[in-house]
This record gives sequence, C-alpha cells and structure tokens, in this order.
Amino acid sequence: MKDTPKHQGRRKKLADQLAEKGITDQRVLHAIKTVPRHLFLDSSFEDYAYQDQAFPIAANQTISHPFTVAFQSQLLEIAPGDKVLEVGTGSGYQAAVLIEMGAKVYTIERQHELFSITKNLFNKLGYRAKMSFGDGYKGMPAFAPFRKIIVTAGAPYIPEDLLSQLEIGGRMVIPVGDDDQDMILLVRESENDFKRHTFGKFRFVPLLKSKQSGQ
Ligand code: SAH
Repeated sequence: MKDTPKHQGRRKKLADQLAEKGITDQRVLHAIKTVPRHLFLDSSFEDYAYQDQAFPIAANQTISHPFTVAFQSQLLEIAPGDKVLEVGTGSGYQAAVLIEMGAKVYTIERQHELFSITKNLFNKLGYRAKMSFGDGYKGMPAFAPFRKIIVTAGAPYIPEDLLSQLEIGGRMVIPVGDDDQDMILLVRESENDFKRHTFGKFRFVPLLKSKQSGQ
C-alpha cells in the first residue's frame, strides 16, 4: 500500500493529459492528481495504472478509463458538500475521486466480492462513503434525494427509481445503450421536467438486473 513520488509524478502527467483531452474542471484534475489509482488495481497492473486505460478488476468487471471518470465527474459539476449517489462501486476509484472533490458519496454494488474488497480498501485508505450491497436500479431510497447521481455501468434504459431520487435542480449522468452507450446528462428542472443532453459514445460493462446475480 505504498504511494511514492514516482506514482505522484505519473498522476500529475495523467492529469495533464486529461486536461489536453478537454477536462477543465480544476476540482476534477486535482482529484486525479490526488487519488492513488494504482492501489485500486491488482498489483500486476501497477506500472500501467496511470495510463488512460480501463483494467479488469474482480468479478469480471472493469475500472473505467481515467478519461471516463474525469468526464462523468465534470458533467456532474460537483460542489463541496454535494450528496452524490453512485451506481456501480466497482474498484471504488470513481467514488474516491468524488470524495476528493468534496462530495458526500453513497455507492451501491451488486457483486458481493467487489463490495467487500472495496469496503476494506476504503477503510485502509481512510475514504468515507456510505457503501451498500444491492441493486442499483432501485437507488438508495432511504437516503434520497440526491443532488447528483452517477451511473458507472451501461444502462439499457434510465431507471425510474433513480429519476425520482434526484433533487430538483440536481444532475444525473448515465451511459445508456447496449453494446456501446451514449453519455446522457439529465438536469431536473422541476418535479416532472428533465432537460436531457447527450454526449459522445462510451463503452461500459452492463448494468445488470438483480435476478442475474452471480454473473
Ligand atoms: N465506478 C467503478 C466502475 C466499475 S464497472 C470504478 O470506478 O471502478 C461497473 C460496476 O457496476 C461493476 O462493479 C458492476 O458489478 C456494477 N453493477 C452492474 N450492475 C449493477 C447493478 N444493477 N447495481 C449495482 N451495481 C451494478
């Protein structure tokens, strides 16, 4: 569990690359420079951890590309203190970035193996989040509403439960599609009005239904 000047130097370079690719939110870039991504990966990938690549993690899932993490985080326009729901905890890297940006993070994961690995990692690294094992399609009604919602798996459609848990004025970022996904930003303008913006194509592992558990 070491973080050395070598790792810090690589992170700084990664943040510079992301800035060149269009990330302008300074809070995002600062978080990328701060979160030790190599500790969220299997140690065999340590040397590549600061390349802009996705990698396999436990339970056949992937940690998203740093650009994807930065892009989704930027679309959320995080302000310190924002209550954020994340669907798809995975390695915990995206959640850690949001925490570094000052968000209060609530995160759900449906694979028990990943849920426990990441919970342990957060304890070790001192990251605080409300972590839940369950079905992200349902959100976390007991803690709603959320100022921001981020889905980090490819959703076949936008789940109603998530829309209803978004605060008025809040923002939700969700990749929607099957083989590849459109990055969609929804801004809740009133009880019934959501303004929709579509960004480029991305590729995520699928947001699975709970009855498929174990896959
Ligand atoms: N945010 C993660 C990305 C992980 S990949 C990171 O930074 O590493 C997407 C994650 O979504 C996987 O861990 C997968 O198990 C999880 N997932 C898929 N369907 C889900 C569902 N219905 N509810 C909660 N999590 C789900």
